[in-house]
Amino acid sequence: MFAYATLVTNSDYVLGATALARSLKRASATCPLIVMAKPGTPGLDTLEGEGCIVRETEKPAMSRAFQSRHSRAAQHARSPFTKGEKPEFHDPIDNFMKLELWRLEEYERIVFIDADAIVVRNVDKLFGYPEFSAAPNLYETLADMHRMNSGVFVARPSRRTYEDMLERLDTPEVFWRRTDQTFLEAYYPDWHGLPYTYNVLQYIFFNLPDLWHWPSIKLVHYQYEKPWQRDHPKREALAPLIDLWYRVLEGRPIPDDIRAPATA
Ligand code: UDP
Ligand code: MN
Repeated sequence: MFAYATLVTNSDYVLGATALARSLKRASATCPLIVMAKPGTPGLDTLEGEGCIVRETEKPAMSRAFQSRHSRAAQHARSPFTKGEKPEFHDPIDNFMKLELWRLEEYERIVFIDADAIVVRNVDKLFGYPEFSAAPNLYETLADMHRMNSGVFVARPSRRTYEDMLERLDTPEVFWRRTDQTFLEAYYPDWHGLPYTYNVLQYIFFNLPDLWHWPSIKLVHYQYEKPWQRDHPKREALAPLIDLWYRVLEGRPIPDDIRAPATA
């Protein structure tokens, strides 16, 4: 059995997951979307109405010291974000809940997708990739090809893996500067590379326009600022992608082509 999975811990990400669920339907995905959700998050009934399987999930066990080192204030102070801004509703501790999907042993493969992403073409092919597959964290320069982004990945749930991960996760003084992403990159140093077209980070649109080739793009990932934020500094530069996200959310047709701004 295969499934897609995402994570929501507050109503902002419920909206994101709604767009993701609709995008999967639009692209004729053949597997359901599991939504791992913090219990009691408002709007989970809407996601059930979209056909999602909602699984209320607790955070993995993390010591108090670990949680305070990875709180929003501590993380932003110790390792500031210089390339973009994280919205107020983003709590880095919640990212570690992604690890809970390794407990879903009834699934042979899970393709995890962040709630701030939409698919624009069918991505069922990802279920044929091995654990652990992910795409590069490519959004500024090609020199970042060796880094991994944890917004899209292929996993094989296993209790043993889960327990082993938790042993590695919370050790005295450890600081995972980009939370689950840094952890997963360390846990799977030999990760399999997916083509970047399976996780196209929105800044590619203005930083690496040569890589913005619409016919090849399968998934758009709105890392840093979210398309539903009322206002953010990159709104203008990302206007066509924000429009795309709203079209998917509202079930309107999407453009046949989206072109990046001409390079200077
Ligand atoms: N997430 C969540 N609540 C939070 C932070 C994160 O539900 O407070 C989930 C959500 O699925 C989100 C993912 O974890 O898409 C990773 O966070 P985000 O996408 O905001 O990080 P970025 O892609 O900007 O690094
Ligand atoms: Mn994301």
